Amino acid sequence: MARIAYVNGRYRPLAGEAIALEDRGYQFADGIYEVIKVLAGRPRDLERHLDRLERSLAALEIAPPMSRAALRSVLHETLRRNRLPDALLYVQVTRGTAPRNHAYPRQARPSLVVSARKPSFPGAREREEGVGVITLPDLRWGRCDIKSISLLANVMARQQAAAAGRREAWLIDQAGNVTEGSASNAYIVDQEGRLVTHPLSERILGGITRSVVLELARADGIPVVERPFSLAEARDAREAALSSTSSLLLPVTAIDERTVGNGHPGTVVRRLMTLYDAHLL
Ligand code: PLP
Repeated sequence: MARIAYVNGRYRPLAGEAIALEDRGYQFADGIYEVIKVLAGRPRDLERHLDRLERSLAALEIAPPMSRAALRSVLHETLRRNRLPDALLYVQVTRGTAPRNHAYPRQARPSLVVSARKPSFPGAREREEGVGVITLPDLRWGRCDIKSISLLANVMARQQAAAAGRREAWLIDQAGNVTEGSASNAYIVDQEGRLVTHPLSERILGGITRSVVLELARADGIPVVERPFSLAEARDAREAALSSTSSLLLPVTAIDERTVGNGHPGTVVRRLMTLYDAHLL
């Protein structure tokens, strides 16, 4: 079945030209996006995603292209037209089309695209054995809290991970701390059994999965510490994990050439995976 996308007021086949050459998303990566998980026809943690979408837009002074209620309807209609009970919804808003000039144009109408695709969530093997990450310098800009479509440094990092046969690249800042992955948040479990992850700041994207996982951990009595952790600490951690909307929560059992802990997913991460799975029921 041909995939259908919503593009500025119309539902149309995804394959085919729809965006103007002078769309500022295309020319300047002047836009933001969201990826929302849908299971059994229900978008999950939708309001958190819409909150973040609005925060990203506000940070770039892009007007919301429509009301929240209207956007919810577009999301559901896109799902319906694609007949996907389980899906990843992609929502992108750019500043719109205007003659090329760096400064914000006075009158550009934001451009909204919504598409849906079949998800491929991690399989049993990755969940049971964990995944490996490589580490790379964090080459990104200073506003990683904005979910910007400007992803070149992330794309380059993920490509290196893929070339190394690894799931993800963890990004290391100039102080030697792990900020996050190229498209996921990063965690360790320290020797005291505390879940440690980089605090919210302009250095990381505040993941929706991260916010859920931290809430679930706290409610379950697992101590949570939001502080930077170094690569050296990560290598000596008892356990490690990554999370994102499409990867869910996954154990990390190898960092570069080193195994984490005993090389198998540990009790804290496994418990959190169970809690996150239950959250999705
Ligand atoms: N960090 C980065 C850089 C990301 O691109 C993503 C998701 O794509 C995440 C973290 C995880 O965010 P979420 O849990 O909202 O998918």
